[in-house]
Amino acid sequence: MKKLYTHENRMIVFNLKNVLQAEGIETIVVNEFAAGGAGDLATFDTWPELWIEDETRLEQAQAIIQGILSNRKTEDWFCRTCQEQNDASFQICWNCGQAIE
Ligand SMILES: [Zn+2]
Repeated sequence: MKKLYTHENRMIVFNLKNVLQAEGIETIVVNEFAAGGAGDLATFDTWPELWIEDETRLEQAQAIIQGILSNRKTEDWFCRTCQEQNDASFQICWNCGQAIE
């Protein structure tokens, strides 16, 4: 397994996981529950991490993540389906999976 990405916001990590899953790439999130709720203990070491199982698809997965991160919008958006607020970096709604318009 290889570590693909880490971010303090687990929603961003899970969003990437969902996008990769849609591409048929299986990933695992570790430290899922470590960040947040841990108060002062929430250091960089406890950020949620996205790991890829199939290392032969590592480059593909990295390219997808790069594409997402370089495509960042600058403002939060609201899901048309469930009205949840989504971080500007999300391509699909963290809550219901609806794709951004
Ligand atoms: Zn939604």
